[in-house]
Amino acid sequence: MSEIGRVVIVGAGQAGGEAAIRLRQLGFKGEITLIGEEPLAPYQRPPLSKKYLSGEMPLDRLLLKPPEAYADENITLITGKRVVWIDRAQKKARLEGGRELAYDALILATGSKVRELPVAGADLPGVYMLRSAADADALRPVFQPGKRLVVVGAGYIGLEVAAVARTLGLDVTVLEAAARPLARVTSPEVSGFFLEQHVARGVRFELSAQAAVIKGDERVRAVGLKDGREVPCDLVLAGIGILPDVALAETAGIAIEDGIVVDAQMRTSDPSIYAIGDCVRRPLVHYGRTGRLESVHSAIEGGKIAAAMIAGVAPPMEEAPWFWSDQYDLKLQIAGLSAGYDQLVLRGSMEKRAFAAFYLKDGKLLAVDAVNSPAEFLGGKRLIERGASVAPAALSDMSKPFKEIMTAALA
Ligand code: FAD
Repeated sequence: MSEIGRVVIVGAGQAGGEAAIRLRQLGFKGEITLIGEEPLAPYQRPPLSKKYLSGEMPLDRLLLKPPEAYADENITLITGKRVVWIDRAQKKARLEGGRELAYDALILATGSKVRELPVAGADLPGVYMLRSAADADALRPVFQPGKRLVVVGAGYIGLEVAAVARTLGLDVTVLEAAARPLARVTSPEVSGFFLEQHVARGVRFELSAQAAVIKGDERVRAVGLKDGREVPCDLVLAGIGILPDVALAETAGIAIEDGIVVDAQMRTSDPSIYAIGDCVRRPLVHYGRTGRLESVHSAIEGGKIAAAMIAGVAPPMEEAPWFWSDQYDLKLQIAGLSAGYDQLVLRGSMEKRAFAAFYLKDGKLLAVDAVNSPAEFLGGKRLIERGASVAPAALSDMSKPFKEIMTAALA
């Protein structure tokens, strides 16, 4: 069993919260202190652009655990406080205000920061970003029917917010610098499908369009585009991506390469310090390279692995990366990473709004985007985890349930 007595976790989000609870589940008996700068106990962010934003989910359902669960597990949860310094030589973390906490093992779970719109006027009232529950709380009351919203960035969060806003009766325009929505994360075919779905519900798109300035005096009035046109609006939501929050690790001299560098056991360049969640660049074991994963899956998995290492038990096997996005009545579930695919196989029907896009490279399955098709998501994920090659004709054969196709491919 572990020789470690004191664990300090910096960042009380999805990953930090998971690590703390998991340590106790694994029988770790030492001290656990979980510190977060937000006022809330650890909570899940996905509903912030989905059911929490639309008002269908209350705050208490965002929380990973009721706040009292931490005390019940003998975990000291400190909220509303930032860790400002790590003294690696003395093994101490310093909180704002000066309090110091000694550690034997430290876990950095500092998450990400939203990219700010790099244009004049981005600080005008009426311009919003969405990362925290507080951000969503600020948006909800202004999401009034008839208001004109410009969403800058057609990534998952931008499109989810557009879907909620349209459903609530706002007038929505999405600006995207690339030629298609979701360009960074999916194929032209799947982008085209989501574009059509939004357009059918009245969302306007300005593609290959860049915001150059936010105009207004007291409040935002319009977004000025690079080509000189203006899109009049009452509200702007900037969803142009995130950056790993590596500030604390950087000042502590820990190795960073667009994310805190960790090995498969979530160890940083300092043997007493682990890092997990959005802030890390980790080995992607199914793809033979490293990468950053901005997902609940990676946050939870990192928490489980770091907790196992500290508790002195075997870490779990890595899953294939997975993610989801809810837009209107469409549930998109993604397993794997499609970058570098050389073949796309469609199964099901885009017209019926239930299909899966399988991405292969040299015959091996890399990823699947499954829309309203949970069996294809689950089966595809297993195939990716097993490094399976599947004949394209088998993947698209709708005469057989996908489970059968998967079982045959794994036999
Ligand atoms: P976070 O959850 O961001 O937690 C990090 C915490 O650390 C923050 O509370 C931060 O304030 C705190 N912190 C940072 N520095 C310090 C410090 N020095 N001292 C104290 N505290 C500090 N993922 C999916 O898989 N599916 C989805 O559908 C999905 N939807 C999303 C929708 C939205 C609107 C957002 C914002 C994210 C979404 N994600 C989704 C991504 C997912 O929520 C993140 O990948 C996940 O939250 C990462 O967990 P984390 O613990 O690494 O970071």
